[in-house]
Amino acid sequence: DFNHHLIVKGNDELAELGNSINEMTDKLNYLERIRRESTADLAHELRTPLTTIKNYLEAVTAGVWQFNNETAAEIEEELDRLVRLVNRLGELSEAEKGVVKGKLKPIDLSEIFPELLEHFRPLAVNRGIDLVLKEAAENCFIKGNRDSIETIANNLLSNALKYTLPGGRVEMRLAKTDTQVCLSVTDTGLGISAEDLPYIFERFYRTDRSRSSKTGGTGIGLTITKELVRGMDGEIKALSEGENKGSTFTIIFPLITK
Ligand code: ADP
Repeated sequence: DFNHHLIVKGNDELAELGNSINEMTDKLNYLERIRRESTADLAHELRTPLTTIKNYLEAVTAGVWQFNNETAAEIEEELDRLVRLVNRLGELSEAEKGVVKGKLKPIDLSEIFPELLEHFRPLAVNRGIDLVLKEAAENCFIKGNRDSIETIANNLLSNALKYTLPGGRVEMRLAKTDTQVCLSVTDTGLGISAEDLPYIFERFYRTDRSRSSKTGGTGIGLTITKELVRGMDGEIKALSEGENKGSTFTIIFPLITK
């Protein structure tokens, strides 16, 4: 840690300099803490599947466990989890690098979203969930990047369908004002408790209920989504009245005139 704070007396230029050095020190400490925590989280996420695989293989080698189809399936499931995690991490670091920043161009969300929504129709039908395009404003131009937009829509829609039970409903809206484009995805699913709500955009964060429901998530999707949204000068927010009361994710982008 950088724990040498300068003692600042008075309020002349030197004191001002001292204060800004202290502020920078605080900022550095903060960044260092985030970095340490992320590494610890990652280690934890990797350890769980690796330990499971190792346990099976050790028992097989020791001759106390028979290697059968079930064992193979368990190991394969844990390997899938690792592969998913590594792929997601790759996407996250791309998003954090802000790769999209340089490649932004005018793009009409009203051209893209209805189509992306349809990609989820088979999954919705399969899960018995009503998928609806509730509102669709026209000419919703933003400065964006097609790949990022697709990733964002995929993440929000797949979460909405993943965390909603059969018989539920998922609605998508695209609206605009004079200066903004607003995109939202609302579901009637599990909802998010007030305690969880502030953390869901953080790396690897998953609520206890989604961990236990075996939906095969990684807790990275929303982190990626947030970074991509930020890369296009947008803002994302989550709202939920609480558990089992559904959730709404809203994204606001600046509207541009084409
Ligand atoms: P995951 O891979 O676990 O879905 P995300 O980063 O996409 O990771 O989401 C983080 C967590 O936020 C999820 O594990 C879940 O607990 C919660 N969450 C995200 N979307 C929804 C939703 N539509 N309804 C309820 N909970 C959600």
